Amino acid sequence: MRATPQTEETIAAIRADARFRHACEVMRAEHERTVQDIIALTEIPAPPFGEEKRAAAYLEMLRAHGLEEVEQDAVGNVMGLRRGFGNGDILVVAAHLDTVFPAGTDVRVRREGTKLFAPGVGDDTRSLAVNLAFLRAMDAAGIRTRHDILFLGDVGEEGLGDLRGVRHLFAHHPKRARFRAFLTVDSPDVERIVTGGIGSRRYRVTFRGPGGHSFAAFGLVNPVYAMAEAARALAAIPVPREPVTTHCVSVVAGGTSINAIPEAVTMEVDLRSAGAEELAKLEAAFLAGVEAAVAAENAARQGTLKAEVQRVGDRPAGHTPNGAPIARLAAAAVAAEGYTPGFEWSSTDANIPMSLGIPALRIGSGGTGGRAHSLEEWIDVEIESSLRGMRASLATILAVAEMELSA
Ligand SMILES: [Zn+2]
Repeated sequence: MRATPQTEETIAAIRADARFRHACEVMRAEHERTVQDIIALTEIPAPPFGEEKRAAAYLEMLRAHGLEEVEQDAVGNVMGLRRGFGNGDILVVAAHLDTVFPAGTDVRVRREGTKLFAPGVGDDTRSLAVNLAFLRAMDAAGIRTRHDILFLGDVGEEGLGDLRGVRHLFAHHPKRARFRAFLTVDSPDVERIVTGGIGSRRYRVTFRGPGGHSFAAFGLVNPVYAMAEAARALAAIPVPREPVTTHCVSVVAGGTSINAIPEAVTMEVDLRSAGAEELAKLEAAFLAGVEAAVAAENAARQGTLKAEVQRVGDRPAGHTPNGAPIARLAAAAVAAEGYTPGFEWSSTDANIPMSLGIPALRIGSGGTGGRAHSLEEWIDVEIESSLRGMRASLATILAVAEMELSA
């Protein structure tokens, strides 16, 4: 992925600047503190819809870092503003507070050498700590930016959280009209810059009938037959490769006993597309398939069953063009550290600003890691690879926020 000469120059100028170099030294000197922040935050559970404790702790950390207008909003996001010298335009720099792990998960961190093992440690707790490290380094080095930077710890990025934190921010924050760009620091990897937001619609469909004895009541409508037909209909829907579009029946549940026609069965369905129109088409075809399956089962047997259709997820699709300045700057910053940047599609907090036409990317927190969304999740906080990625992301942030260069 090539950066334009102009963006390469911008990044080179930032990297050569004495204050940026000073900031990098501060990050090096404070690396163990950053690691301790990662551990402390990881060990505060933040299950889906249960981020309060971690949010409260992070709010205090933002306050302790001297930000202005430190606050928690109505959905639980916490944030604070680092004032710029410009006209009040704002770059939002986010990391998400929530993990995929349910309440009760053991979130204690095991440290083996430079590796930290714990659920959520890389996705996205490391980034919460790294954003604080950026802030301390910028302050210690006296770095000034034209744009204000709103540092955000947001709720509801994962799964059925449905991006509710960032969605709320862009719908209700009093200064939302000044949001000019959005960077979410999410997971360690800095090489793969996310410029595309995969949209998704998620459904839970419950097929409900009278139920009865498998033998004595034979001939009654069977919710499983309707559900199976709806699943088969979804499987048969053709989808384009471009824009990439996918469907999945992912969870099924229900039934009473092996010798009973069930009263209720449920299936959960995940529909995704890089294109808003394709996603809408797929959704319509899926819903038509459910309706047809219910009608077919009601026609085939006695009694009546119904489908209760519940939309449990709605993430808008969006795209920051790969030629957009923000994408070029990020690619140049990543390349300047000797990485090979690539632009990718994913589903992240950046979907929301992308869908609104606001330049947005996912960038990385540095270092390496793996097994995200599993109990074996790990990161490596080895200092050189950590700082290398952090320098790339800090340079991106400062380029987008228009850092004031030393004379
Ligand atoms: Zn994440």
